[in-house]
Amino acid sequence: MSVKTCYYEVLGVDRQADGATIKKAYRAMALQYHPDRNPGDAEAETKFREAAEAYEVLSDQEKRRLYDQYGHEGLNNAGFQGGFQDFGDIFSAFGNIFQDFFAGGGGPSARNRPRPGRDLVYEAVIEFTEAFTGTSIELKIPREETCEECDGTGSKSHSRSTCQQCGGQGQVYQGRGFIRMASTCPICRGTGTIVTDPCDSCRGHGRIKRTRTLNVKVPAGVDTGSRMRLTGEGESGYNGGPSGDLYVELIVRHHEFFSREHNHVLLERKIDLVTAALGCEIDVPTVTGENEKMTVPAGAQNGKLLRLTGKGFKSPTGGATGDLIVSLIVTTPQDLTERQEAILREFADLEAEKRGDSPIKRLAKKAKRKIKKALG
Ligand SMILES: [Zn+2]
Ligand SMILES: [Zn+2]
Repeated sequence: MSVKTCYYEVLGVDRQADGATIKKAYRAMALQYHPDRNPGDAEAETKFREAAEAYEVLSDQEKRRLYDQYGHEGLNNAGFQGGFQDFGDIFSAFGNIFQDFFAGGGGPSARNRPRPGRDLVYEAVIEFTEAFTGTSIELKIPREETCEECDGTGSKSHSRSTCQQCGGQGQVYQGRGFIRMASTCPICRGTGTIVTDPCDSCRGHGRIKRTRTLNVKVPAGVDTGSRMRLTGEGESGYNGGPSGDLYVELIVRHHEFFSREHNHVLLERKIDLVTAALGCEIDVPTVTGENEKMTVPAGAQNGKLLRLTGKGFKSPTGGATGDLIVSLIVTTPQDLTERQEAILREFADLEAEKRGDSPIKRLAKKAKRKIKKALG
């Protein structure tokens, strides 16, 4: 009987090491002495085998207990034939250890464990007024769902059979001797199982494309770029995993008259020169459709801003409501009648008089300044 090295020493862990530590140690060793990396190296081959044997025992609670109490002999007495004859056996037993290392690996345990469904993103276009008041929109979302007929098994009888190609491992091994590469089983696509009686409704896939109609409430105050998350409305999970989420991204259409800055609604309102000069009350449209009265103070200049507090967008996140801000555009009268022109000329004279300089006086002042300048 050959003398065996202590399993803990083989993996370089101490006797109290937990499962995760042992697995990590084995993985490191297995990768270091992997036959693909050490072709023709007998010593590496031995280490690779020893590590696998040690891991087989220490990763199994019952075997580890026997080994801890009675050593190698305890395992022999319990009928455990330690060691691996073939690399294929090692890969079959611990192939999933290498799954991150070799492309195409994975193994049935990885393929078959519950995984969440994909998140979906959907863009929805709404009107400016809808963004202002809030609305509800109907969305038709095409998505993948678990087939209800077969509960996602893909099988009429809800049962899958073990794949004969890979013996249920989900991986096949190619190559001879030291060079062995694991790749995903092409027959079962890594699941380790196949369907012999495909479900009519999903044709054996276990999932079907379905367009789902959703009514989504859009809160008042949203803007282009606002995102709403609908938990669980994404694609169905795999193997009983949770569904993904649906994100609805909003695009708000431009409005003919209104625009938006932060939560304020902006509006340009034309008033004529006389109204601007005299002041008055004007009607101003609001986003909701009804008119509001606003006071234009006498002498309002072009571009003057009037503000209606709290008549802007609500904040969907609970912040301050914006204002309605009206920018006045003063227009100059055109196509004057003779009488209008005469009145405006008279008005101009009165303005000049008011400032205390008649046209003749103005000319005189100008002449005086010129003379002064000429004299230095
Ligand atoms: Zn297979
Ligand atoms: Zn089905």
